[in-house]
Amino acid sequence: MKQLVLVGGGHSHAIALKMYYDNPIKNVKITLINEVKNTPYSGMLPAHIAGYYNFYQTHINLEKLAQKTNSNLIIDQVIDINPTQQKVYCLSGNTIKYDLLSIDIGSTPDDSQIKGAKEYAIRAKPVPILLEKWEAIINDLNNNPNQNITLNIIGGGAGGVELALNMHKRLTDIVTAKQVNINIINRGQVLLNSHNIRASKLFNNLLDKKDINIILETEIVEICPDKVITKKGKIIKGDYTFLVTNASPASWLKNTGLSIDKKGFILVKNTLQTLSHDNILATGDIATIKDNPSPKAGVFAVRQGKPLYNNWRLLLEGKNLNSYYPQSFYLSLIGTGDKKAVAVWGNFTYKSSLFWYLKDYIDKKFMEQFSS
Ligand SMILES: Cc1cc2nc3c(=O)[nH]c(=O)nc-3n(C[C@H](O)[C@H](O)[C@H](O)COP(=O)(O)OP(=O)(O)OC[C@H]3O[C@@H](n4cnc5c(N)ncnc54)[C@H](O)[C@@H]3O)c2cc1C
Repeated sequence: MKQLVLVGGGHSHAIALKMYYDNPIKNVKITLINEVKNTPYSGMLPAHIAGYYNFYQTHINLEKLAQKTNSNLIIDQVIDINPTQQKVYCLSGNTIKYDLLSIDIGSTPDDSQIKGAKEYAIRAKPVPILLEKWEAIINDLNNNPNQNITLNIIGGGAGGVELALNMHKRLTDIVTAKQVNINIINRGQVLLNSHNIRASKLFNNLLDKKDINIILETEIVEICPDKVITKKGKIIKGDYTFLVTNASPASWLKNTGLSIDKKGFILVKNTLQTLSHDNILATGDIATIKDNPSPKAGVFAVRQGKPLYNNWRLLLEGKNLNSYYPQSFYLSLIGTGDKKAVAVWGNFTYKSSLFWYLKDYIDKKFMEQFSS
């Protein structure tokens, strides 16, 4: 019996496990190691923060998935891998041996250049900590609805902007808009710089209408409990600071001997195998396909689930693997916190409630496959 060990219960692993359930592979025992029992689905996270969906609608129950697939689920944090000995090391001291290893651990916002970030910032990931802190903020506001609240959100990409609009919605359900002050602080010249310029302008207008401040070309170098400090020494006051900066990889990976790129992400071939070890595959945010790198977005992690499952099977059967090529254009549906969404596809950008219903339909359909 071959041991297939899955590190991280991210989007690709959830899909691949579901495919394994529908079509089991012979002579393999799967062990899934994840930090938490319920893994978040990124597409619905901002709307969960806004209060539109509850926790269970937006999280995949890995325990249920493991039971269905007769896999072992270990709730633990992987802290090291030894590819020579084919072992995975966990924070609890547990060591797990593998024949085939698959890694899908996602990423966290980059805080390496910001003093005080580890102590005082609320990072968009890990999601369980973000949600715990967000609920504490909401409870505090519910208990003291006369107070004003100021949020600093560092990072003006799609994640930061979507979070700002959805947080604004939830906060203004409790207190008046005048009591809510949100600053989006972005290092670049425009918001959503990986989308088209129309999307950037449209979100500028949307944020303006809600009196959310957009602070561009501003780099934060320090976070304190009640303020952030810019590179030019300017102080921006705030009660809470959220970090939604570029994706960064787990730091322990660099000591494993796995092939990594300059930023520390795992370098893989189009077969999703690491460049360094054929019996180790990686997908989602943590992986960078050497010849076809794609943005660190959940849509790619989801798309990689099927080729990942197929290549587990082919590897275990000793056959040649298939190559996966990410699409160059993909549809972004970005929720605006008011039951509307902006669709961005290449140069096309449009806001409509229809796109919210489309997004809601796609996301619920995605989650439905894990509910039965
Ligand atoms: C606010 C926000 C909104 C976003 N909205 C969208 C969106 O609408 N659409 C979109 O395409 N993308 C979106 N993204 C990006 C998206 O979240 C990521 O691209 C996506 O989650 C990556 O999926 P993944 O499978 O790589 O990892 P993840 O979904 O992050 O899953 C990784 C899992 O591994 C676990 N894990 C991590 N480290 C370890 C470890 N050492 N040991 C054990 N387990 C571990 C984690 O607990 C987690 O359950 C958003 C991101 C943010 C921050």
